[in-house]
Amino acid sequence: MDLYQTLVENNALNIVTDTREPFPEGAAFFALQGPNYDGSLFIEDARRQGARFLVSSKEVPSSPSCEAICVADTRTALQDLASEHRRRTPIPLLAITGSNGKTLLKDFLALILSETKGLFCSPGSYNSFIGIAKSLLMIKPGNALGVIEVGVSASGEMGEKAKMVKPNYGVLTNIGLAHFEGFGSRRAIAKEKMELFKDIPEDGWVLLPDEPLLKNAAQQLKCKVFIVGRDERLPRLESVQHLQTGKSVLFIQYPDGSHYEVIVPIDGAFPEVCETLFMGMCIAHLFGVTPAVVVGAAKRYRPPQDRMEIWKSERGHLLVNDAYSSDPVSAHACLQVFKDYPSARKIFVFGGMPELGSQKDYEHRIVAEEVSRLNVDILLTVGTLGKLTHQTFKSLKPNGVAFHYDGIEPLLVASEDLIRPGDVIVIKGPHKLKLDQIATRFKAHLSKTAYYIDLGRLEYNIKTWRDHLKPGTRLLVMIKALAYGSDAIQIASFLQQHVDQFGVAYIKEAVTLRQHGIRKDILVQLVMEEDVDEVVRLDLQPVVFDLKIVKVLSEAAVRAGRVLRVHLEVDTGMGRFGADPSRVLELAQAIDGLPGLTLYGLMTHFSSADDSQSDPFSLEQMRTFEKIQEQLKSCGLSPEVCHAAATAAAARFSDSHYDMVRIGLGIYGVYPADCVSEAIRLKCPLALVSKVASIKEYPEGHPISYNRRYITTRKSRIAYLPIGYHDGLARRWGDGWSVIIDGKKAPIVGAVCMDFTPVDVTDLPEVTVGGEALIFGEWHGQRNPIEKLAALEGTIPYEILCRLSERIQRIYLRNRY
Ligand SMILES: *Cc1c(COP(=O)(O)O)cnc(C)c1O
Repeated sequence: MDLYQTLVENNALNIVTDTREPFPEGAAFFALQGPNYDGSLFIEDARRQGARFLVSSKEVPSSPSCEAICVADTRTALQDLASEHRRRTPIPLLAITGSNGKTLLKDFLALILSETKGLFCSPGSYNSFIGIAKSLLMIKPGNALGVIEVGVSASGEMGEKAKMVKPNYGVLTNIGLAHFEGFGSRRAIAKEKMELFKDIPEDGWVLLPDEPLLKNAAQQLKCKVFIVGRDERLPRLESVQHLQTGKSVLFIQYPDGSHYEVIVPIDGAFPEVCETLFMGMCIAHLFGVTPAVVVGAAKRYRPPQDRMEIWKSERGHLLVNDAYSSDPVSAHACLQVFKDYPSARKIFVFGGMPELGSQKDYEHRIVAEEVSRLNVDILLTVGTLGKLTHQTFKSLKPNGVAFHYDGIEPLLVASEDLIRPGDVIVIKGPHKLKLDQIATRFKAHLSKTAYYIDLGRLEYNIKTWRDHLKPGTRLLVMIKALAYGSDAIQIASFLQQHVDQFGVAYIKEAVTLRQHGIRKDILVQLVMEEDVDEVVRLDLQPVVFDLKIVKVLSEAAVRAGRVLRVHLEVDTGMGRFGADPSRVLELAQAIDGLPGLTLYGLMTHFSSADDSQSDPFSLEQMRTFEKIQEQLKSCGLSPEVCHAAATAAAARFSDSHYDMVRIGLGIYGVYPADCVSEAIRLKCPLALVSKVASIKEYPEGHPISYNRRYITTRKSRIAYLPIGYHDGLARRWGDGWSVIIDGKKAPIVGAVCMDFTPVDVTDLPEVTVGGEALIFGEWHGQRNPIEKLAALEGTIPYEILCRLSERIQRIYLRNRY
């Protein structure tokens, strides 16, 4: 009898593939095999735990209560089983795939469709090959509709998954970054994802985002295709309003002309989450759910909120505070931060994950395995849940350093002895444990003013740049000037997996990056004779335009027995560095002829690409640069990477991309000038936020701050912010700049002092001491554009960002839903 028949007749379609999972009655244990995993080692364990069947590729004895079945390959057997079950329970099935938001969309749909009788949703984020097979086997003949999440892997597995799932409907949430998903390009991700929908029958449909990369594949589908925002048969998202309360209102017009306002508890900083939820509303419409039901479900919806903050203490501890919520998915996510800091000592402080029910032991063991795999140096656990992880870790690594504490106080005391400057400390635990007190111990966030950098938005900008660039263009990120005032090490650590190369101005900056484990190629703009040995030692890529330094570099490289890649800069009109065009060939030939050097790059720099009036000049610079490329080529010299564009040119002239672009300001979603913002839409991840330190009332006619630059014109309430020109504000911001408190403008009045800034809150009676004031940037849906502030001061945004003093605490955020 075949395997399926046997399992069905014994009511044994409950598949277990990991003996640490709970064994339901009549479970069949599949001993999977992998390159680093042999499930057959756990067969006896499974038998003890009450498995009814043991499916394995090895011959094992049966026992009276437990039948052993031998198959050629357990994974294929599981796949066949799931396919067969799917064939016999042909309920309509919606498959959700996409890079982000799959689980979010599935959970939201479950809520909307909760009145649909017999709805089946795949559990948790069961979206791997095995997870999908197990989910399919959970479908009962009585289910009326199934919703299944399907993950993508780089290996071209989607076709196989599609054959198993056989969806009737499909939805693709979005296409993420190729670099994050291990694909060669976004086009490749798109292609792989669309495989899932290939065999959807004609009476089915697929809902897609408005994404040009999907167009070709969509045309080849047999079923109907709906594109969000483009199809008149779908609801239309007219606008989204983000409220100060952390909610957003979606204004939706239905195809029959009716209008609805749907309120969702999503902060304005996450417009992409609103988009995902709107997709859910479109699906509901296609399934015939009325708008009233959608509105009701949205009201009940609670996103799995999650936020991680990264601080650096004054003594150099790096604290990753992820103690807002604690569950398996976010625990896994926060542990990945260690990968960004390969050379630091790693400490994980863990308070466990509540509310896991029967999965409790299993999930805490999984965390221990991951901690061990990531080579965490010290594991500190607290509480009864944390103990579960401690015990597993000790059994996996008997010599590993791990300490367990029953309460938070002894943990705090011990952490002071254990933690050293330079360590990376990831703190994870349920909110109520208040593990973030550890950060306070290290005085990591005592500063009254914080400069927030949202890494999620940074990631979004990288993706937007990649989409904007000509295919195949390399992306160099300039992280000179402490990454434009944000902190070079943090930004480089975060970006190193996502960009091709870094650039800095001085050798010292490159040394710091290398010291902190940054292995990527680094371009150095200015190299002097005394630097050459360091350049060779750290394998940096110097920019050169002078024969003398070229010779010294060659000698240093030869001394060290290395070959150095150099970039030859041409001055096509910038008037700063670079060789005159008439001398470039001679220099290029010299470099080519010298031992120890490779002419790797040819570069130039625009002087006025941010000024549309000067476009003819910029085009002339490009023409000169191209002529030089030709000239070198005709002499048999072709540098591997030609590059010219910084933010403004890269945004505005696609002809300037050549082989690589060098982006600085544009990573931060800040525009050098208006004409640049017309060419590319980015998100600003930056926010300078201070707290009201004191409030005073004054009668009419009272002078405020130095030199009586402001005299109250009415009875006034003045709030003082603990930030001043020492921190990088300018004295003249009192001549018209307003900070934003609770979504309302509060003008700076009088002169900005060295350490304090007075703002007028007379019209904001609700403002109290401790209230948050957004000085510039974007914060919780409030906007105070840096570009406008620069215009008011008569400077460019670059200057404002770079001026921020070290006194201000930088806090990196990774918000997630
Ligand atoms: C600073 C700099 C850049 C980056 O400029 P942005 O306008 O910030 O993108 C690129 N190339 C060179 C040579 C630079 O000096």
